Amino acid sequence: DTLYRVRIRPLAGLAGAGQVLLHFEDISEQSQALSFRRGFVANVSHELKTPLTALLGFIETLNGPARNDPEAQRHFLSLMSREARRMNRLVSDLLSLSRVEAGERTRPKRREDLVSLVRIALEPLSEIASDAGAVIRTDLPDEAVVRADADQVIQIVTNLTENAVKYGGGEVELSLRQIGYDGQLRGPAWQLCVRDNGPGIDPLHVPRLAERFYRVDTHRSRGQGGTGLGLAIVKHIAQRHRGRLKIESEMGKGSEFTVLFPVERDQSTTS
Ligand code: ADP
Repeated sequence: DTLYRVRIRPLAGLAGAGQVLLHFEDISEQSQALSFRRGFVANVSHELKTPLTALLGFIETLNGPARNDPEAQRHFLSLMSREARRMNRLVSDLLSLSRVEAGERTRPKRREDLVSLVRIALEPLSEIASDAGAVIRTDLPDEAVVRADADQVIQIVTNLTENAVKYGGGEVELSLRQIGYDGQLRGPAWQLCVRDNGPGIDPLHVPRLAERFYRVDTHRSRGQGGTGLGLAIVKHIAQRHRGRLKIESEMGKGSEFTVLFPVERDQSTTS
C-alpha cells in the first residue's frame, strides 16, 4: 500500500552526461490523509443534507397543503424541531471532535478525581435512563486521581452510558477500578467500564465502531438521535489522556466499553 512520487532529473555536468537521477518520495501518508479528508467532508455533507432536505420539505408543506390546517402545522413544526435538533447535535459533536483532536498533543495537566467526574456525568443521565426504562448501577472506589480534562472525562462517561441505555437491554453497569498492568499502556491503569445486557455487536463491526460515522444500524442510530461520532470522540479523548478505548461484545449477552487511563507511577497501589 505504499505510494511513491517519482521524479526523474537529468544529471548535470560532463560527469553526469546521459545519466538520470531517480528520486522516490514516499507519499502514502499524505495521500491517505487527503483521501481521509475527502471521505470525511463527503460524510459530513451527507449527514447535514439529510435533515436539511427534510426541513425544506416540511417548510414547503407548511407553505402549501398545511397552510390552513393548525393541527398539521403543529405536527410539521414538531418534526422540524426534531430535524433542527439533529443538526445541532451533529455540529456540536463535530466541534467536540475537532477540539479534542486539536489538543491531542498536549496531555491534560490538572489532577482530577475520576469518581467525582463520573458522579457529575451521571446526574442528568439517571433521568434519561429511567425515561428509557433502564437502570444504571455503579461500582466506584472512594477516589481515583489522574491528570485529566474534567469536561472530556464527563463526555466519555456521557457518551458510553447514553449508548448503553440506547442500544442495551435495560441494565447498565458502570465500574471503575485499578488494574495492576495493561499491556498496551505498559503499566497500571484506572479502568472505567460501561457494560450493558443488550443484544451485543457482531465481531465484524467491533473494530470499526470508533470510526467517524460508522454505525451498525444507521436507521436505528439516527432514529435515536445518534450522530455516529460518539465513540470517535471517546477514542480521541482517551488518546489525549495517553489511554485507550477497548470494546468487547458477545452476541446475545451484551457489550462492554472500557476506557483505560494510565496511573502515574507514584499513584499506583501495590495490591
Ligand atoms: P451513534 O451516535 O450512532 O450512537 P456512536 O459512535 O456512539 O454513534 O456509536 C457507533 C455505533 O456503535 C452505534 O451506531 C451502534 O451501532 C454501535 N453501538 C455503540 N454502543 C453500543 C452498545 N452499547 N451496544 C450495541 N451497539 C452499540
